[in-house]
Amino acid sequence: MAARDCNFSSLASIINLGICTRGANLHIKLIFLGAACNVTGSRYVLEASNVRLLVDCGLYQERELRSRNWDPFPIPPHTLDAVLLTHAHIDHCGLLPKLVREGFRGRVYCTEATSEIAQIILLDSAHLQEEDAEFKRKRHEREKRRGPFPEIPLYTVDDAKASFPLFEPVRYGETVQIGDGVEATFHDAGHVLGSSMIRVSLSEGAEQRTIVFSGDVGRWDKPILPDPSVFNDVDYILVESTYGDRLHDDPPDITDSLAAIVNSTWKAGGNIIVPSFALQRSQEIIYRLNQLLSEDRIPHLMVFLDSPMAVSITRVFRRHPELFDQKTLQLMRQGRSPFEFPGLKMIETIDESKAIDHISGTVMVIAGSGMCTGGRVKHHLVTNITRPESTILFVGYQAIGTLGRQIVDGAKEVRILGQYYPVRARIAQLHGLSSHADKNELFRWLSALKRTPRRVFVVHGEPEATKQFGEFLREKTGWDISVPEYGAESILE
Ligand SMILES: [Zn+2]
Repeated sequence: MAARDCNFSSLASIINLGICTRGANLHIKLIFLGAACNVTGSRYVLEASNVRLLVDCGLYQERELRSRNWDPFPIPPHTLDAVLLTHAHIDHCGLLPKLVREGFRGRVYCTEATSEIAQIILLDSAHLQEEDAEFKRKRHEREKRRGPFPEIPLYTVDDAKASFPLFEPVRYGETVQIGDGVEATFHDAGHVLGSSMIRVSLSEGAEQRTIVFSGDVGRWDKPILPDPSVFNDVDYILVESTYGDRLHDDPPDITDSLAAIVNSTWKAGGNIIVPSFALQRSQEIIYRLNQLLSEDRIPHLMVFLDSPMAVSITRVFRRHPELFDQKTLQLMRQGRSPFEFPGLKMIETIDESKAIDHISGTVMVIAGSGMCTGGRVKHHLVTNITRPESTILFVGYQAIGTLGRQIVDGAKEVRILGQYYPVRARIAQLHGLSSHADKNELFRWLSALKRTPRRVFVVHGEPEATKQFGEFLREKTGWDISVPEYGAESILE
């Protein structure tokens, strides 16, 4: 157990830590330091009399909250005994290098796949932070002004690498002893490869309490991953609510729609450009293409995965077949690899990426970024967006203000890499690929409980979604429901 300093910085007086309280009974406290009435920056501190844990260490992505990324960590990082990571999305792991730079020296527990993917994502994030800082420094110098944040990277590639030796991979279902009377088990969340719901059990003498951190709740009957794990006996639950006020559309069969788009674009003689996220979405598209090819429902076209990060993550998928659902395992037993087929090419270098534009006939290019805000997809858009025979196929949510959103909203002309282009390509969308449970699926997940929980905390959602889902749960179940705000503390009786 790490030694603990009770004389914290002035921030500790804002968040009254009270960790030195000891007694015969369990004394447990939760502090909400992110994804509390907002979506990103997941960070929850869990304290018992002899241990202090951090569950997730995510980056804030909402523009108005990003300044929190730059604040000193509200609790001295060296006083944390361990970090538990639910999964590798940047809003759950993206501040880890900064936590380590500021003094955290404990273990980072997560599944092996999460550890491998998080390291790929953190390196990419650190590169972007470095590039961004340099770009801003030059621009501010030219414009003789200063921006709201320092012109230094939030963390560097070296900071990211320094966090890697702390990762401690655990298997689903394996119980990890974090401290005296403190255990954690990781359960498949069915959200992205390696994603977990974490059950923490705290005990002192005869008393015991269990807390489940939902992480991001996945969906039932999706390809590749098993359904989300469910729990039937838990004292306290933190449940995400990203789609807590919404239901996903019941889309027509996604694979059928994909086949129709590929076939019509092939007939027209254009290319299919798919802006895609590197984790899970790209692999799911490849999985569905593979299925269509094996059933001879689409022509044998060349497919380029043109994103070094997506290529690295796809390799993690190939290394971890033990995480796949039964259907995917069945395919593998028949000798078929779900993430490989003859026309699929993994592109890593810029030269290879540029060469794609010179290929005649229909090809599909899957490239980042998913909302066209950066990355190689912009170059492929430049080549294809003016061609009526090509298709730009969106497979994920497009946030307001992004180039992707302008295109799906029907812009007649868009600016890409500093130049304006008329939009003549066909714009298509595949709905229903979300890897987040919607309102009914979140309720389904909670409905597995056989005993009334002591309290449910609704987290990880926009304020309206969180509030609405909290009210919905209260009405449906009569349970004690709490919607904590940033910095809120809760004593768990
Ligand atoms: Zn996620």
